[in-house]
This record gives sequence, C-alpha cells and structure tokens, in this order.
Amino acid sequence: MTHVIGTAGHVDHGKSTLVQALTGIDPDRLREEKQRGLTIDLGFAWLTLPSGREVSIVDVPGHERFIKNMLAGAGGIDLALLVIAADEGPMPQTREHLAILDLLDVTRGIVVITKTDMVEEEYVDLVEAEIEETLAGTSLAGAPRVRVSALQRTGLDDLLRTIDEAIEATPRKRDLGRPRLPIDRSFTIQGFGAVVTGTLVDGALDAGSEVEIQPGRIRARVRGLQRHRTKTARLEPGTRAAVNLSGVHAEDLERGMVLARPGALSTVFAVDVRIRATSLLSHAVGHDAGITFLSATAESEGKLRLLDRDSLAAGESAWAQIVLEREVVVSRGDHFIVRTPNETVGGGRIVALNPKRHRRNHAPTLDALELALAGSPADRLRDALLAKPGTLKEMQKRMELEAEVVAAAFEELVEAGEARLIGERAVSVAWLESAIGRCVASATEYLAAHPLRPFAPREQMRSEAGLDGSTFELVVGEGVAGGRLDDHGAGLAPAGYEVTLPAKQQEQVDRYLAALRTG
Ligand code: GDP
Ligand code: MG
Repeated sequence: MTHVIGTAGHVDHGKSTLVQALTGIDPDRLREEKQRGLTIDLGFAWLTLPSGREVSIVDVPGHERFIKNMLAGAGGIDLALLVIAADEGPMPQTREHLAILDLLDVTRGIVVITKTDMVEEEYVDLVEAEIEETLAGTSLAGAPRVRVSALQRTGLDDLLRTIDEAIEATPRKRDLGRPRLPIDRSFTIQGFGAVVTGTLVDGALDAGSEVEIQPGRIRARVRGLQRHRTKTARLEPGTRAAVNLSGVHAEDLERGMVLARPGALSTVFAVDVRIRATSLLSHAVGHDAGITFLSATAESEGKLRLLDRDSLAAGESAWAQIVLEREVVVSRGDHFIVRTPNETVGGGRIVALNPKRHRRNHAPTLDALELALAGSPADRLRDALLAKPGTLKEMQKRMELEAEVVAAAFEELVEAGEARLIGERAVSVAWLESAIGRCVASATEYLAAHPLRPFAPREQMRSEAGLDGSTFELVVGEGVAGGRLDDHGAGLAPAGYEVTLPAKQQEQVDRYLAALRTG
C-alpha cells in the first residue's frame, strides 16, 4: 500500500512549492495538464522516501478543495504536512485547517516552517513559539517541526527523514475484505474508456473483478488499475488509484459515487451522528438548520436535527440526525463534516445509517446512540480480530470485556461467516484472506526477481508480511490447505509454481540430463 500525505496551511505559505521541491512534480502544473486532458490524477504527486517507501502527496489549491480532499481519503489522510511560512507565522487558514484535521482525527502531522530564507534565525524562533501556542490542544500538539526553504532546498533531507519516521509509525490500513472506492473524478481516456480516481479503503481490489457503482446499481468490470501512473494487478487498501472500467460510460459516473463489490453497499438518506462544533464557529447553529453534509467524496444538502439541545455553539458536542436531500453512500464509522455557506460548523463520525426519526430530548434514544457509538461487542471483537488473531482469552483481555460477552460476540461473528476458530485462535476471515493474499503476492514478487529459484525463503516472507512466527505459520497453513501456496520446507511458492527456464538454458539442462542418463 502507499500512504497518502496531505498538505495544509494558509494560502501562499508555500505548500505547492514545497511539494514540487520534494517530488519534482508541480501540483499546480497538473491542473493545467488536466485542462488539456493529460493528467489522470489531479493535485497528486508522489515520491520515494529514503527508506524506499513510496508515498502519495495531495496538494490542492483553495479552501473548499482542502476540506473535500482531506475527507476523500475516507480512511483518513495518513499524515498532514502543516505548512507555515516563517515570515508570517500562523494565519486564519492555518487555524481553520488545524480545526478540520482535528475533526477528522488526523493525529499524525509534521509542522513545516518554510521560507526560512526570508527571515533571520531569531525570528524563526519567535514564530516557532507562536506555532506551539496555536497547536496546543489540537490533534497536532507535539507534532515534530522541521525548518526548510523550498526555494534554497535547505532542510529537505531532514523533512524526508521525519516523514519516513512518521509513516513508519502509521498502522497498516484496516482490511475488512470489503473494498470500496469513493469516486472523486470520472473521465474518458481515448482508447481505454471510463476511468475513475479515488482512494481505496476497507479492502483490496483486483484487476478483472466485477464491481457495482452506487447510487444507481451500475455494473462494470475492472479493466485495469493504476497507481502513480504505473499499471498494477492489485491495489491494497489505503492506496490512491485510477481504475479503468469496462461496461460503463464515464458520463454515467460522477464524484460522490462509490465503487464496490456487487451488492456490498446501499444508499443512505439519513444518518445519526455524534457531532462536535469547531472552536472557531462564529454563529451557533439551531435545530433543523439547513447544512451541507460532506463525507468521503459524497456531498448533499440536508437538515441538522439536534437530538439533545436546541442549538450547537463553538466547541460543543451533540447527538444529531442529519436528513439528506440526495442519497449518499457512506458506512458506519465514516468521518463527516457539516458546513454552512459561510463556515465549517463541525464534524465527527457516523453512528447509524438510515435510522428512524427519533424523538428529541428522549433519554432512552440518547442512551442507545451512546451504545451504538462504542459499537456492539461483536463490532468491537471484529475490529480487534482485524488487527491480529488471538485466543478468546487474549481477546477478552484486549477488549476489557467479560468472558461470556466475548464468547457470545465470537459466536455471532462465526454465524455471520466473519470469523473462525483455527486451533486455539479466533481469526477474522477477512484478515486471513488478506494475509494469505499478501504472502502469495510477496512470493510471486520474489520469484519474479529470482527466476531460477523454486521458492521464496520463509523468513523473508514472514518479515515482509509483518507477522510474528506463529501467526505467519497459521496463515501459511491456511494458504496451503486452501490450495493457494505450496510448502517446500525452507520456503514457499504460489500453488503450482514451477521454474521455467529460458529455452536455451532448458536445452542445456536437457542435454546434461541425457548425458547423465547415457553415462
Ligand atoms: P501555496 O498557496 O501554499 O501553495 O503557496 P505557493 O507554493 O504557491 O507559494 C507562494 C509564494 O511563495 C510563491 O511566490 C513562491 O515562490 C514563494 N515561496 C514558496 N516557498 C518559498 C521559500 O522557501 N522561500 C521563498 N523565499 N519563497 C517561497
Ligand atoms: Mg498551492
């Protein structure tokens, strides 16, 4: 997977110049290319970090686009680069972007103090003190700070190292075995047909698979996948990508639609939410206020029904139901933002889809919402198992729940086909599928690079898959049993793999073997 980094910060503070200095790709030029139809990935650049890891960087002009792009990751931007010009220090949009990162739970960030060539060093010290005050109490408090000049190319190595460290600490993106790609653009490329772009979340997507686009139940097939303008057969969750589709016209697809497996998603016309107003909100918002709802790439006008108060003021949190004017495709737990024409009101997470209309100020309703926010024991066990398999006893410790509650939750997941017991350990079916997929992919890659070897070394595969010894053996055992891997003892190969020698070498081998036989 490739991680996605987003830039944030006041206009003209040097975001695009920094991205260009880091990547050699001018994000503003991509915009012109788009007008000429040359680029398929608006505002996106990418680079290889010192560790060899590839990352995508999204840098978009304008405030509206900023909010939409921060949301478009759905699973969240992995890392924010908050760019602050040394000659100006924190400005209004610096604070507003910080507030939005906070609402979206983007907790990983690096503060880049740029344009340091324009001021004396002592002045940068003063600006840094002011930045510290600005960050206090936000999700980026305590974030590392790096001083650079994009123009004079100073501090860039330090920044790249800091990005590498931050990405290293980022957990692997969740894989629920339910891939979905909120579409942010759709267009036609001559000779290829319809292409959509977006960030894939919640599962891997393979070339050749059948998909459905909602709303509208539009069926199509994945003809090809691209990442950083390079063709790939499989996309891991968390990856920014372009998807070439057959069986559909680009004109029938639009931003806000979501691509997923057939039947996986339905449309939503109302959501229950926990909403927090930003501390910058200038006017309290009343019950039933008209608002704009944004989640992933979807957007709709709607009404904000406040369930536990009559108005929502700066910094306050509330239970609310948002009734939408047009159908959107979102999932429970997704982040959302609510705006009025003038400002960002607040945001939070979606707690329930298509709920019934609730009575206001009704204690049992509010209690039920509180429970739904935490998730049922089965929801929590599903999440825990997606991180790693374990015995029910270990799960019980991890989740801090009673043994009977965990056992019942496990039964529920087993009945739904979402979990299994392998030996002593409870295993998520989606997690297992994705772990086996990663092992097969890593063996395939190794054998492509070493065409004369009959299998890939076990230890290298284990470390690439990021699994401990016993978990790796569990995954391999299931991969072999399921006919996906062949076990050669010291190493593994995709099922049925055989070394095929180039014709000339094969001829030499045949001759040698024949000589042995006759000799
Ligand atoms: P954005 O709106 O945040 O994307 O800002 P830009 O990257 O477009 O930069 C705004 C202006 O600041 C441009 O004129 C840049 O040339 C200038 N600029 C950006 N980085 C630096 C820097 O490190 N030093 C100096 N002196 N100017 C810079
Ligand atoms: Mg810019």
